[in-house]
Amino acid sequence: MLSFAKKISLAIQIIISITCLLLPILSVAQVQVNLKQFNQVTAQVKELKKTDLVLSLKKLLSYKDLLGSLTVEQNLVYFKLLAEIQLEQNRYGAAKSTANKGLSIAKRLASPSILISELLYLKGFALESLGHIGQATKEYKKGLEVAESLHNKVQIAAGLINLGAIAYLTDDYKRSLVLLNDAYDIARQTDDEELKGTANTELGIIYSYLLQDKQSMAYYKQSYFHFKNAGMLLAAHNSLNNIAINHIYNKDYQQAIDVLNTVITESNKDTPSDSMFSVYSNMAWAHLSKEDTNAEAAYQYLLMAKQYLQLTEKNDFKLQFYYNEANVLYELERFDEALISITSAEKSFTNHEEMPQLKKQSYVNLINLKAATLHKKKLFEQAYNLKSMVISLTDKLYENEDNRSITQVRLRLEAAQADKQNKVLDNQRILYEANLNEAKLENEAQRVYLLISALVALAFAWVLVKLIQSQHKLKVASRIDTLTGTANRRCLMSKSQKAFKLATTTKIDLSILMIDVDHFKGINDRLGHSVGDQVLAQVATLGANMMRKSDTFGRFGGEEFLVCLPKTSLKSALEIAERMRSSIDGYSWPLNNLEKVTISVGVVTLADDSDLIQLIKRADEQLYQAKVSGRNKVCG
Ligand code: GH3
Ligand code: MG
Ligand code: MG
Repeated sequence: MLSFAKKISLAIQIIISITCLLLPILSVAQVQVNLKQFNQVTAQVKELKKTDLVLSLKKLLSYKDLLGSLTVEQNLVYFKLLAEIQLEQNRYGAAKSTANKGLSIAKRLASPSILISELLYLKGFALESLGHIGQATKEYKKGLEVAESLHNKVQIAAGLINLGAIAYLTDDYKRSLVLLNDAYDIARQTDDEELKGTANTELGIIYSYLLQDKQSMAYYKQSYFHFKNAGMLLAAHNSLNNIAINHIYNKDYQQAIDVLNTVITESNKDTPSDSMFSVYSNMAWAHLSKEDTNAEAAYQYLLMAKQYLQLTEKNDFKLQFYYNEANVLYELERFDEALISITSAEKSFTNHEEMPQLKKQSYVNLINLKAATLHKKKLFEQAYNLKSMVISLTDKLYENEDNRSITQVRLRLEAAQADKQNKVLDNQRILYEANLNEAKLENEAQRVYLLISALVALAFAWVLVKLIQSQHKLKVASRIDTLTGTANRRCLMSKSQKAFKLATTTKIDLSILMIDVDHFKGINDRLGHSVGDQVLAQVATLGANMMRKSDTFGRFGGEEFLVCLPKTSLKSALEIAERMRSSIDGYSWPLNNLEKVTISVGVVTLADDSDLIQLIKRADEQLYQAKVSGRNKVCG
């Protein structure tokens, strides 16, 4: 309870904050005109940006010299929009410094704003595009923290999407699937078409990495419709480009060429250079790969792509270009030139120890091509040496732990696929209905807009009061999984990480339980998702209540839970796991048509594990054993 004096001082603080915010607006009438105009212009810029980057940039920059007379919030909006446009124009370096400017101005804000989260994501995306994955991850995490503390669904989903993309870029497919599916579920609850489009795009990419072409295609198509609904032509083209890539993977070369032709026809001189580069490169690739190979046409398309190469800031694009060029030249039997392209590509593969799996694969392919080219030039000894190198590199590639995990993820995926397919179909139906109702919705939207503007003024004051009152609550909420009320993954991992460090330094026992609900998909399928949710919540409650205060019980993802048990030997951990298993097994469910739910548990104790992830991996392997030995089992 707050004392009376504290309450008074709080009230005074609030009044002061509100007055501070209002004063500059009231004092200068001249500025007020600017402010109003500015808000109108930003709305126009947002619309224009979807189709015409050059014009939208011009409109926005007309405020460049007036920033001093705008509010802090408006400054942030300005820098946010500018960074967004720069990113779409593929000017990543510029976007990074714009986002930084915004972030330094944000320090003057009186209360936290979601704009901070947006700016952090933009900065992260710029860094990611420039190849600085580690730095990008940091910005994304900071942005997500802000979004979570403000309970902003759209930005939380956006943050998960960003981190999900980082995960597949660093070969962590399982994590990527969890993050992207979480984001997808949140996005579905909003009416933000751009967000839905982005979530679908990223899912399309991860499924394509996992060689699930059909699934990937369905997501890309959905992303296309969402972007179209949002009026975002440039983004919709990007979806078409992805669809074309999938057609190429599927050897439907003519279809790929048709789709790419559509994009080329609809593009104009302002279309960002990176998109044009990709479209022409893919066109070349399709012409080179099709049955009646047309290497000459492929080469012409590559030359088109090359025009855009000088403009790109992406190192990966240069690599992709020289790699393609080398392949085409080889096909054209222009071996000397092919060797020059190979050398240029090789230069772009810096530090190949740290490359993600897919890139390593391309590196091997390149060396292989080099060997073949040298062979054609009758330089047999060099060709032979390179061939041996290819063999040893390929061995390394496949003995790598990560590959096994890709297979595992793929196996699991197949089971979950039917379920996802349903979701996709359901979404397509919703989209279709949404299109039909568009006219109706527009009217509705206008009314809602009026209502919202009236409410915003009220909400503003309310938010201020609430923010101050609930600092503490917010902190708690960002660590809790909303469905089960137990620790969320972030909190779980950070607590387990601490426990791991302590256990390794003090040599005291630490055990981990990895829990997975058996045949959970069946429960969802038979009784519906909402019963599934209730089951998850109850399993979590039963489990969490059995733990000591020093233990951490939390949701690892989907229907998987993880328990971190400090100062616990393998024997005790096995006992705890067995108690939990039998308590769930014996629970009588007060839910219609649900008789029994069981869990499988993998148990491990810290041995010479190098890090927490390795320990968890071992727990996962034990869980797998429990599953294959019949489920409703504890293995350790
Ligand atoms: P197994 O015994 O091999 O674990 O089979 P399973 O069906 O439990 O495993 P699988 O991983 O194939 O299915 C997990 C399902 O859990 C798929 C997914 O749709 C569902 N799921 C994930 N998160 C949630 C959630 O938050 N709520 C509900 N209702 N279902 C979820
Ligand atoms: Mg599972
Ligand atoms: Mg399961």
